[in-house]
Amino acid sequence: MVKAYSSLADVQSGLRAGAITAVDLTRSYLERIENNKNLNVFLEVFTDSALAKAEQVDAKIKSGTAGKLAGMVIALKDNICYRGHKVSASSRILENFVSPYSSTVVERLLQEDAIIIGRTNCDEFAMGSSNENSAYGNVLNSLDHKRVPGGSSGGSAVAVAANLCLAALGTDTGGSIRQPASFCGVVGLKPTYGRVSRWGIIAYASSFDQVGPLTHNVADAAAIMEVISGVDEFDGTLATQPVPAYSQQLQTPQKKRFAYLRDCLEKDGLDPEIKNRLLQLMERLRAEGHIVEPVEFPYLDYLVPTYYVLTTAEASSNLARFDGIRYGYRSANATDLESTYKKSRSEGFGAEVKRRIMLGTFVLSAGYYDAYYSKGQKVRRLLRNKTEEILSSYDFILLPTTPGTAFEFGANSADPIKMYLEDIFTVQANLTGVPAISVPAGKASNGMPFGVQLMSANFTEPALLAMSAHVQGICEKL
Ligand code: GLN
Repeated sequence: MVKAYSSLADVQSGLRAGAITAVDLTRSYLERIENNKNLNVFLEVFTDSALAKAEQVDAKIKSGTAGKLAGMVIALKDNICYRGHKVSASSRILENFVSPYSSTVVERLLQEDAIIIGRTNCDEFAMGSSNENSAYGNVLNSLDHKRVPGGSSGGSAVAVAANLCLAALGTDTGGSIRQPASFCGVVGLKPTYGRVSRWGIIAYASSFDQVGPLTHNVADAAAIMEVISGVDEFDGTLATQPVPAYSQQLQTPQKKRFAYLRDCLEKDGLDPEIKNRLLQLMERLRAEGHIVEPVEFPYLDYLVPTYYVLTTAEASSNLARFDGIRYGYRSANATDLESTYKKSRSEGFGAEVKRRIMLGTFVLSAGYYDAYYSKGQKVRRLLRNKTEEILSSYDFILLPTTPGTAFEFGANSADPIKMYLEDIFTVQANLTGVPAISVPAGKASNGMPFGVQLMSANFTEPALLAMSAHVQGICEKL
C-alpha cells in the first residue's frame, strides 16, 4: 500500500531512494480514484497515458534525467486541452470532443515529467461557484457530501483534498481556483494575468482567464508555476519578463506591509468565524513586526456587477464558435442551417451558460453597449487604478477568500444574484489582473475549512508565495 503523499518533495525523495516507483504511485492514485467514484470528481481517468508516462519517469529517474516535476501526479480541469484526449468544459455541447492539440501548460507539465492522471469535473464552461452547473452531475465536497466543493474548479479542488492526485490545474476567471480551494481546504493560486499561457484553454472571458495550481502546500504551487509560466508564441498577452525560480524563494519573509479593506471585514454576510480568524491572523502578523493597516476601497459593491457585465460580454463572443457544426454536439432535430445552430445551442448548453450568453449579447448590443459594456470597462479601469495605488504603498492586501464556508447543494440555486455574490472577494484580482492566492486558514465550527486570501502587485508571485507559505504556517497554529 502506497502512502498518501502530500508534497512533491516527499514523493521525489521516495522515488530517488527507491522506496516507491512512479508506476506504483500512479496505480495507487488510480485505485483511490476508483474507490471514491461517488465524489464524481473525474470525468475521465487517463489510465493508459498516465501509466505510460509513469514508466518513462521511472526510467528517467534511473538514468538521472528526470524533470522538475518527476512523479507529480496531476489532474487537469476539463477545460484544458491535451492532445488525443477528450475535453468537454463539462458541457454537453462538447461531449466526446477529442482535442487535436495540447495546451501550452500541458506540454510544459509533460516536458518536466508530471504524470497527467485525468480530467476533472467543473461548472460548464467554468461558469459557476458550486459545480452545480456541470452537465455531468455535481462534484461532492469530500469533507461533507451534502455540501458543494465550490466552483468552477470544484473537481480539481476535491481531487487534491481527497488525495486522488497530488496536484491539479484549474482556471480562475473570477475565483474559480481560490474559492473551491477555500471550500476544500487546499492552496489555490491565480497568477498575474499574462503570466501563464492561455493557449489550449477553452476560453470563458479572455481578459480575465488564468490557469493556476491547486495543491496541498505553497511549495508545490511554486514548483508548478516555475514550469507553466512564461512567454509562449501562441499567446500574445503574455509578459516577456523572465520566470523567477519561485520554489527557491520561499524563505520566511522580512517585515512587510499589509493593507486590509475595511469594508470587506464589515461586509454583511461575512461569516463571523472567518472574520475572527482574519483578525487573529492580523494580530499575529503585527506581533511579528509587520505593518497591518486598514485602507478605504469605496468600490466593493461595484466589483460583482462589473465582473458579470464584462465576463458575460466576453463569454457571449467566445462561445459563439459552438454552433453545432464545428465541434461536439449537433442536434438530431435540425432541419436546415439555422435550426442546426439554434437547436444545437439550445440543447447543448445548460441554463447558466445560456443566461450568460444572453446577458453578454445584451450588454454588447447597439443601444446598450455604452450603458453597460463601455461603462463596465471604465469602472474596471477605476478598480485597477485604486488597487494599484494600494499596492504601491503596501506589499499585500489581506482579505477573506469567501464570505462563508461551503454551502449545501441547492442553497443558492434558485437565485443567481445570490450565487454571484459568493464571488465578492475573489473577482477584484481578475478585474485588475493582480495575482491572488487562497491558503487554508482553519475550520469553522461546522467542520468545514476556509481560506484567507492575499493579493499583491503584478508579477510579485515570489513575495506572494513566500508570504502565503508563512501565513499558512501561522494559521495552522492558531
Ligand atoms: N464564480 C465565478 C463565475 O461564475 C467565477 C468563475 C471562474 O473563475 N471561472 O463566473
